[in-house]
Amino acid sequence: MLNKLNLTDLSAKLQRKEISSFELVSNCLKEIKANDQKIGAFLEVFEEDALNQAKEIDKKEKIGPLEGIPIAIKDAILVKGKRNTCGSKILENYIAAYDATAVKKLKDAGMIIIGKTNMDEFAMGSSTETSAFQKTKNPVNLEYVPGGSSGGSVASVSANFVPVSLGSDTGGSIRQPAAFCGVYGLKPTYGRVSRYGLVALASSFDCIGPFARSAEDCAWIFSAIAGNDLNDSTSSKLDTQNLIEQILPVIKGLKIGLPKECFGDGINKEVKEKVELAIKKLEKLGAHISEVSLPHSKYALAVYYILLPAEASANLARFDGVRYGFSAKAENLISNYLKTRAQGFGDEVKRRIMLGTYTLSAGYYDAYYKKAQQVRTKVVEDYKKVFEKVDLLATPTTPTTAFKFGEKADPVEMYMNDILTVSANVAGVPAISIPVGFDSKKLPVGMQLVANHFEETKLLQAAKAYETL
Ligand code: GLN
Repeated sequence: MLNKLNLTDLSAKLQRKEISSFELVSNCLKEIKANDQKIGAFLEVFEEDALNQAKEIDKKEKIGPLEGIPIAIKDAILVKGKRNTCGSKILENYIAAYDATAVKKLKDAGMIIIGKTNMDEFAMGSSTETSAFQKTKNPVNLEYVPGGSSGGSVASVSANFVPVSLGSDTGGSIRQPAAFCGVYGLKPTYGRVSRYGLVALASSFDCIGPFARSAEDCAWIFSAIAGNDLNDSTSSKLDTQNLIEQILPVIKGLKIGLPKECFGDGINKEVKEKVELAIKKLEKLGAHISEVSLPHSKYALAVYYILLPAEASANLARFDGVRYGFSAKAENLISNYLKTRAQGFGDEVKRRIMLGTYTLSAGYYDAYYKKAQQVRTKVVEDYKKVFEKVDLLATPTTPTTAFKFGEKADPVEMYMNDILTVSANVAGVPAISIPVGFDSKKLPVGMQLVANHFEETKLLQAAKAYETL
């Protein structure tokens, strides 16, 4: 079954002309047609474009490593000429005017964009339930959520519709769904991948990254999309050439710290056991394991849920019915603004806009926004200190395995699910979720590895060593 193969294997077969891109793309489309009605990963599939592009690639004598391989894209990342809804009614009919830099790089590498995937509205959520359009089910067990906010992207890989997809991670939206659906998900260092063309949620946290069924596949996509971009002044100037060649399975002698705050109460027993077992395996491979501390990490969730709504409320001010997407019928301009936003945004988005405008308002700014920024610095310093002692950190990715639809109706309960992922975003460091087994309900468990800024190579090397076990 072609659609079950990893990108790396498909790439070898395509380059040797053992299979054609047309065959591969047709196979993916067939799987999507047969099974996506029950999964709900895609908002749109570009059948004709994908097949035409595949035909063109098949005419070439020699192709590059990513050429002719299909990829799915989260509906927050612009693909020129295609609808970009961000899971929201307010952008229901918005057509992207340009390609996101990450998408452009994938297109330049010859990858085939097969479709856009479902997500929580404006990437706010941890279950993909806040999408204005459809539910996405966890392909491992359809009664459970796939995680979020990149639920469609993770499901497209976990259900074997595509070998790889792109998601975005502002507080865990790549790693948490990867853990819930049993695949790999990489959040790069803040600034490593251009944010140009990613609909902004919280600009000082947002990152684009890959989902894949192997560490090596993550590395391929990561190295294709990383790099400086004139269109994003926060993108790093560090060299990203030859990244892929550095990603060999290396673990011997690596120092791995276990932050004691991430293994305490509130972490499900079975999750903890599976992660500890995986850490033992890393130790057997030659890693040095020690306990470390991130004393301010207990504040990271609170910091995140102050700063994220603040940034989001500012970013989302542009959706006023004038320039983008949906515009409500109204008798005058003010009423047009009000009605468009009242009808266009869902409850979670409105909740965060209200929280954000509140914490930024005169009189409250110092107590909330400024305070949270100060604590953010403390969290960053914790990481700085700990990475003087160890190369990587290992933690569970999530406190529990996947939950059922409707199970977390209380927003704060939903926010609590992000407790282990948000601090990497608060500090801007890279992190990956690796599948490390299943609980007694046969739901996947994820282990998170975290590295210092711009040390994705170390993350991917360790992940690759683990996977070759
Ligand atoms: N679940 C988190 C939130 O709701 C993370 C979202 C994300 O990373 N986009 O904010």
